[in-house]
Amino acid sequence: MSTSETTESLDFIRTLITEDVRAGKHGGRVATRFPPEPNGYLHIGHAKSICLNFGAATDFRGTCNLRFDDTNPVKEDVEYVESIQDDVHWLGFDWQDRLFYASDYFQKLYDYAVLLIQAGKAYVDSLTAEEIREYRGTLTEPGRNSPHRDRSIAENLELFEGMHAGKYPDGAHVLRAKIDMASPNINMRDPTMYRIRRATHHRTGDQWLLYPTYDYAHPISDALEGITHSLCTLEFEDHRPLYDWLLANLPVPHHPQQIEFARLNLSFTVLSKRRLLRLVEESHVRGWDDSRMPTLAGLRRRGFTPEAIRDFCERVGVAKKESMIDMALLEHCVREDLNRRAARVMAVLKPLKVVLENYPEDKTEYLEARNNPEDAASGSRLVPFSRVIYIDQDDFREDPPKKYFRLSPGREVRLRYGFIIKCTGVIKDPATGEVVELRCTYDERTRSGSETPEDRKRVQATIHWVSAAHALDAEVRLYDRLFVSERPGEGDRDFIEDINPNSLEVLGGCKVEPSLATAPTGARYQFERLGYFAVDADAQSERLVFNRTVTLRDQWAKIAQKS
Ligand code: ATP
Ligand code: MG
Repeated sequence: MSTSETTESLDFIRTLITEDVRAGKHGGRVATRFPPEPNGYLHIGHAKSICLNFGAATDFRGTCNLRFDDTNPVKEDVEYVESIQDDVHWLGFDWQDRLFYASDYFQKLYDYAVLLIQAGKAYVDSLTAEEIREYRGTLTEPGRNSPHRDRSIAENLELFEGMHAGKYPDGAHVLRAKIDMASPNINMRDPTMYRIRRATHHRTGDQWLLYPTYDYAHPISDALEGITHSLCTLEFEDHRPLYDWLLANLPVPHHPQQIEFARLNLSFTVLSKRRLLRLVEESHVRGWDDSRMPTLAGLRRRGFTPEAIRDFCERVGVAKKESMIDMALLEHCVREDLNRRAARVMAVLKPLKVVLENYPEDKTEYLEARNNPEDAASGSRLVPFSRVIYIDQDDFREDPPKKYFRLSPGREVRLRYGFIIKCTGVIKDPATGEVVELRCTYDERTRSGSETPEDRKRVQATIHWVSAAHALDAEVRLYDRLFVSERPGEGDRDFIEDINPNSLEVLGGCKVEPSLATAPTGARYQFERLGYFAVDADAQSERLVFNRTVTLRDQWAKIAQKS
């Protein structure tokens, strides 16, 4: 994965790492980590962090660990642990033998806490959670010392051991670092290190009754793994003094450097596991891998490629300032990738029956269709053609408006890879007046590629079609943005109120060409003139199901042009 080699200027993180390597810091070694908490599925924001951490490691011939920050047993689950590993691999990255869990360090973390108590740098507090909040002060007011802050080292040790041994109920005590209740940085006002929590952990079971906080466990986990550059999002900037305080006050083998970058914000969606979980739990979507979700599992199901997502992350870049990225850019990236790679096929989403009156009843001929004009090596296939075909309802207008060049009574169009046809009659449902069938004639001399004068005849439109006798039935799911607002939940609004009620349209009775009979789950195609589509996991041998990944219309090109 070339990143720094192909871009002219390095991002600020790679610039910093380059300087560290040049100066021989950490012996010139580069070690990063991607540290998800297994409390949900990964989303496109995580992809940015994955590409950065694994990408930088690759660029500097270093290593990148996958570490589960599994310090909160209440919200975590093996389902998430497994999905996260699948998603990182799918995105194209590998941690080799460096898979770690913060829970592997529970004993060491505990032992370090004992050292801090012995050094007079941590104490057991018995205030309630609410009292602790009150004592903490505010941004403008300093905090106050807890009445338990000056407990003796011996008493603290006894209480902490008692917490470990299960002597006290949940919430009776916490362990806090003894730093400075008057610090202007609230994170330094004696932050909590341990809480008593009787919860079964997905890896350590009921072995532990007290659990470390993220702020306490994270720097030590980094240090134990020999991480050199600990990359995290900007909201942890104010936690950095605590990160450094813990490492400076503990006999850890190594002192990593925390560096913050701006998180990815994407318009028309939400990137927070808490909110994504709500969408799933309240059934606003069909699950974490619903194709409308910004999760990697959802994007994959929808037909996004890992290449497109990596390209997107590279274009977004890494900066120190928050910004909002347009969803159209992500769509542009996948469209561009699929344009190069996806095989073209013909599919009709809203079928309108067309009878070619002068075509023999029992004849079938095979027309040569190119698989991908962008890829000469992709070759061609034969598409069956016969007397009755389907075209899309949108490609016929009984009363064509100005500039409508497709089929209408008396008008001619070319069938893609086939013949020029002329509409000679319209059959309507007598009850509803709806057009149910077209009668047309075809001109056998106009067959595509025959190079006859008739073939060279210019008509104003080419439309796609499928042969009725040979077509396969399919369900096609059309997706629109999950939210109608660029920033869902902006202000005091509940983000749920911004859900787009029309984000999913399911079309039954679609007709696709027979070459798709054996299309495997996940296979991606361009349905000519319609967009890119991927075979959904719900597809079975007798039931084809496609997701529309993205339409052919490129909004990003327009946006980019304007700016
Ligand atoms: P969320 O807000 O979605 O719950 P999180 O930060 O709590 O995200 P973690 O599992 O802790 O989720 O994230 C793992 C890593 O991914 C962290 O280093 C975090 O900084 C990074 N990350 C999370 N969201 C984004 C984002 N939107 N853009 C870039 N990096 C992100
Ligand atoms: Mg987190």
